Amino acid sequence: MTERAYNFSAGPAVLPEPVLAEVQRDLMALPGPRASIMEISHRSATFKEILGAADANLRKLLGISDDYEVLFLQGGSRLQFSMIPMNLLSGVQPSADYITTGAWGQHALKEANKQGDMNVLWDGGDTNYNCLPAAGDYEVNKDAAYLYYTSNETIHGVQFGEEPNSGDVPLVCDASSDFLYRPLPIDRYGLIYACAQKNIGPAGVTIVVIRKDLLDRCDENLPGYLNYKTHVDGGSLMNTAPTFAIYVVRLVTDWLLNDIGGLDKMYELNQAKAKLLYDAIDGSEGFYEGHATVESRSLMNAVFRLPSDELTKAFIAQADERNLTALGGHRSVGGIRASIYNAMPLAGVEALRDFMVEFQQANP
Ligand code: PMP
Repeated sequence: MTERAYNFSAGPAVLPEPVLAEVQRDLMALPGPRASIMEISHRSATFKEILGAADANLRKLLGISDDYEVLFLQGGSRLQFSMIPMNLLSGVQPSADYITTGAWGQHALKEANKQGDMNVLWDGGDTNYNCLPAAGDYEVNKDAAYLYYTSNETIHGVQFGEEPNSGDVPLVCDASSDFLYRPLPIDRYGLIYACAQKNIGPAGVTIVVIRKDLLDRCDENLPGYLNYKTHVDGGSLMNTAPTFAIYVVRLVTDWLLNDIGGLDKMYELNQAKAKLLYDAIDGSEGFYEGHATVESRSLMNAVFRLPSDELTKAFIAQADERNLTALGGHRSVGGIRASIYNAMPLAGVEALRDFMVEFQQANP
């Protein structure tokens, strides 16, 4: 078998090894149905048990109460860019507030503007999205249908450490690249969603946690698949669910609960891992330059530059030879992006940190 690298891909991204081992063990035949997870009905008792366990695990990890529905949808996070305004705007509240801290917030805003005229409270574009708004930089409109933000900007590497204050306006969050990285005060959110392929599982499923009272806003004339209420009524089985992806989400959430010991522990580990990289950047006397301001730095995606394009290329190539892969930054920011999601082991980050120190010494 090919040796596994430390994979710093931004997504789809690294999965926990015990999860991959379990998938491999049971891929030909699950105990019970004696067929692969990919070969059994989404309405079978076995799959319903898997779906129920994924839901229960998420509720346990995040302390999600009965006031919320947990949905498993397709279409990726990008479909949420449209479904959110389609479902949550109304004739009485035709506009929502958006805070844009990076590329994904921009994409979400563009789609929302097709459904109405959104109000941009704050946009970090002037400094190529290297920071977050400070307290008092914006004021939420009291009649906004919701306040939208992206908790972690995957490309620019800026992350909110806590929720913006939206007052009585429902808070809506794209948590695609940091869902489950720390415990969350779920009752602060009206809706929070994440595609699976960064921190939760393989591509193909998007998790949406929505407060039940917001379902009253969903217009019954929306196309069925685009209406949250249809998915609630169908228990996420309106159509054939992405069974394999949900199965892996169940295993990843089992791993978080049983192997890691919950999200407090996961958060501690994530803080320790990110500190290793940011300390290396800060200790490099400017050889490595972080994109985000210190207080906005992401614990999931460390984005930094080297002094030249030649050195950047050499860094990526030599890292790859050391089994440290997928470190190239996004074309809009350049440089290096090290994605260190939940499943990236501490040893992987230590190996990258050691390589950074050596590379600098070899290229004074
Ligand atoms: N939001 C964020 C923060 C993301 O990182 C991504 C994917 N990179 C998306 C949205 C879009 O996700 P998808 O490709 O599943 O539509």
